[in-house]
Amino acid sequence: MEFQAQQLRDASRVVVFSGAGLSAESGIPTFRDALSGLRERFDPAALATAQAFRNDPALVWGWYEWRRAKALAAQPNAAHLAITKLATRVPTLTVVTQNVDDLLERAGCPEVLHLHGSLGSPRCFACARAYAIKDDQPDESEQGRSIEPPRCLHCNGKVRPGVVWFGESLPDDVWRKALAAVKKCDVLLSVGTSGLVQPAAELPRIALKHGAQVVHINVQPELVVENREFSLVGRAAEVLPKLVEQAFG
Ligand code: NAD
Repeated sequence: MEFQAQQLRDASRVVVFSGAGLSAESGIPTFRDALSGLRERFDPAALATAQAFRNDPALVWGWYEWRRAKALAAQPNAAHLAITKLATRVPTLTVVTQNVDDLLERAGCPEVLHLHGSLGSPRCFACARAYAIKDDQPDESEQGRSIEPPRCLHCNGKVRPGVVWFGESLPDDVWRKALAAVKKCDVLLSVGTSGLVQPAAELPRIALKHGAQVVHINVQPELVVENREFSLVGRAAEVLPKLVEQAFG
């Protein structure tokens, strides 16, 4: 880890690219875990599509309300806090996340690029206007409970979760900013992502192609193919604080 710490110390531009594993130790299930309870009854991937919402809006809205409840009840963990600390130590840090929770923001991270949207920003399925969701605590007890989605105040359309579903494009401005940062960075830390969801999964490869060092932090070892690519195996909440501590004290 000393070598990667040295790389961080020497870097001018750093990108942190995170996935569900970053929030796992805050008690938010990763994608696979979040679906596991429903696996026997539903086709899991079909819950995260526009077609699923058309077919059964209450089932899909209820599942996202359960996830929103989980996120609201969770607290940032040591990995989120280490990223916030890193932001104060390196000249330029860009945080790009696939996560739809707000734990990085709640850990004090200044700007977070949410590639896949946010559980807290629902919008109308018909007219796309933002819907101000009540700041209540949704029920997190039951994972598969159907809940009728609220109605848009402007057109009475059904309100949908503010996340990017399979088959949908990423928000253009967010993706452009993320790409620009990744192409210019010296070091990219890829934290707690399975690298399966495209096009986000391309970001570490794009960083490598542009000459960056890429460090994967995951409980699973990552198959590294380039000599500028490294795999640090362990829990994000353990490895990331250690790395930042070694680099900057
Ligand atoms: P994923 O669920 O596909 O993969 C999670 C990865 O994290 C795995 O590689 C796993 O080995 C690793 N991991 C698990 N626990 C870890 C830990 N404690 N420390 C380090 N690594 C750990 O997640 P993904 O790659 O982000 O892609 C799935 C999609 O699901 C994303 O689009 C994301 O938007 C969405 N999602 C988001 C959240 C969230 O916002 N917290 C939660 C679930 C799913």
